[in-house]
Amino acid sequence: MKLVYSEDHRGHAGAMEMRYDEMIPMSECPERMDAIMGGLKAAGFTDIVAPDVYGLDVVHQIHDPAFVSFLQHCYPLWEEEFGPGRFATAYTFGMRGMDQVPNASVHSMLSCYTFDVCAPFVAGTWTAINAAKDIALTGVDLMKAGEQAVFSVCRPAGHHASQDLAGGYCYLNNAAIAAQAHLNAGAKRVALLDIDYHHGNGTQRIFYDRADVFFASLHCRPQDEYPFLMGYDTETGTGAGKGFNLNLPMPRGTDYTEWARALQVALDRILAYAPEVLVVSLGVDTFEGDPVGGFTLQTADYIDVGKRLAATGLPTHFVMEGGYAMESLGTNVANVITGYCEGTAEQSTVTVQE
Ligand SMILES: [Zn+2]
Repeated sequence: MKLVYSEDHRGHAGAMEMRYDEMIPMSECPERMDAIMGGLKAAGFTDIVAPDVYGLDVVHQIHDPAFVSFLQHCYPLWEEEFGPGRFATAYTFGMRGMDQVPNASVHSMLSCYTFDVCAPFVAGTWTAINAAKDIALTGVDLMKAGEQAVFSVCRPAGHHASQDLAGGYCYLNNAAIAAQAHLNAGAKRVALLDIDYHHGNGTQRIFYDRADVFFASLHCRPQDEYPFLMGYDTETGTGAGKGFNLNLPMPRGTDYTEWARALQVALDRILAYAPEVLVVSLGVDTFEGDPVGGFTLQTADYIDVGKRLAATGLPTHFVMEGGYAMESLGTNVANVITGYCEGTAEQSTVTVQE
């Protein structure tokens, strides 16, 4: 499988984050990509493709142009005020029920366009965001050219970002941008399956009233976990999108047996939808040792995850999301891709025998 990857994420580093009552270095760091690419190479995946450069046309089909402009200009504006070497985050957030009057100050924009303190901006943030979107779009073009499956190794991740809100380490929603580009390329229906430990609240919001992208998310339930306010199984879509949103929330501590049962429910619904492309928001913070997670999946389980995805027989576009257990991260990600490739090979053997 081809991996689309670039080093342009590396400057998005050095900020701190609030974890409940303490400030800690960001769990979301460039070394995650070193672990992931190392794991993939060790598993024999060495076909690495550099991304092409794209404009913002597809991005603007998913995101509010003013929001995209904010992502681009936030850090330079912040630096004008505070000087170099500091990271930008919001001081206030949306004030429900009050008359809000946004203005052009960076503080006002941070308050309007972010929803938590886990989306900091440093000097290299926009370069990383922009490259991650190129990585997602290059994956689409490779599939358009005939690849059955591609892995867009994006950083930063995207699934918490909505049309006009960044948060949870996410800025542009790479998987949503990929799904839109697959539609633009001619697919009539795209399924987007989010297997990150956290609810893909941004992706849900983006496609909530649409029938051309079926969204399914397996995640820790909002009673136990971030983002705390969304991800209930009662959220099924609205308007034309009614019935095209599937949430499968599970309690903290869920093991692979239970999780795999939910995965099968999602895959059965996806197959019934009959999409032409499956986009997978691939997070492995479901791993037992993940410092940001709370499920108990084991390293070997990820092989089975990949095989179950392959069993759908759908052209599949993997887009990287979360995963923070540095020692196991690379192997866990590589196991999903290995399992997928093994599953695909087994399927084609069966077809030949028939
Ligand atoms: Zn996550």
